[in-house]
Amino acid sequence: CGIFAYLNYNVSRDRRYILEILFNGLRRLEYRGYDSAGISIDSCSGDPSGDAPNSLLPPPLVFRQEGNIESLVKSVHKEVASTELNLDESFYVHAGIAHTRWATHGEPSPKNCHPQTSGAGNEFLVVHNGIITNYEVFKETLVRHGFSFESETDTEVIPKLAKYVFDRANEDGDQTVTFSQVVLEVMRHLDGAYALIFKSCHYPNELIACKRGSPLVLGVKELSEGTSTGASFLDLKFLSENGHPKEFFLSSDASALVEHTKRVLVIEDGELVHLKDGRVSVFKYDSDKGKHGTALSRPLS
Ligand code: GLU
Repeated sequence: CGIFAYLNYNVSRDRRYILEILFNGLRRLEYRGYDSAGISIDSCSGDPSGDAPNSLLPPPLVFRQEGNIESLVKSVHKEVASTELNLDESFYVHAGIAHTRWATHGEPSPKNCHPQTSGAGNEFLVVHNGIITNYEVFKETLVRHGFSFESETDTEVIPKLAKYVFDRANEDGDQTVTFSQVVLEVMRHLDGAYALIFKSCHYPNELIACKRGSPLVLGVKELSEGTSTGASFLDLKFLSENGHPKEFFLSSDASALVEHTKRVLVIEDGELVHLKDGRVSVFKYDSDKGKHGTALSRPLS
């Protein structure tokens, strides 16, 4: 399957433009499989300063459709027309994610499409390429903790684990838990092959991606620079916060990025990429840990 994401920073883009970038990304990845597809975009512009209480942000919008990419495009436009969603609404910062699925767990159906979610409210959203081999153990435990599962996918445990970790941190009074801390805690437990992209209304304007076994590339376009400066891959890991307008792309395949930028960083196994405030932070984690069935640092049961 294919995963794709687009984040614009410090540059105004309207919803129509954002949707087109996501759809085009999926069209380029369609050769990787397309029994169904889905996207998530923001329902309104969040406060780019991050000062607004996150709980007040309406949940992101999720569109999912069986069939090929054009079926998804059609169904989004139909829904846009019926809900009067404003395609001209512009976003100074916006994080969108997209998926074209080749089912491994659960037949192609609307519930099994990605993004998979943490439940009502779509607090955490995940697109996944690959297979989580040890998902059943977490599914059972999360059910005991009151989570209900809608899909037959292996993927659904991931956003639900993220919500579990986030809620626990907040119950413990840690209001400052970062998106990368939440995802790193989730990744300690998962085994299998994956490329993942996370989006959350608790962390508006941020995206997290990580991988083990499945391909993932990051593209960065600095709009003020005009043409590519030929920066080395290493430099990309240390982009300074210079406030320049930027566009970030994540994709299963560089072929979906070439129309946007030449500055592409290949993400390695065990690397977690955090896109926030116009910056790229790369964290290393032990992606083999899940194999050993590590317990949650605060046990689930
Ligand atoms: N294992 C996941 C599923 O069946 C992802 C499959 C894919 O890579 O498209 O939903």
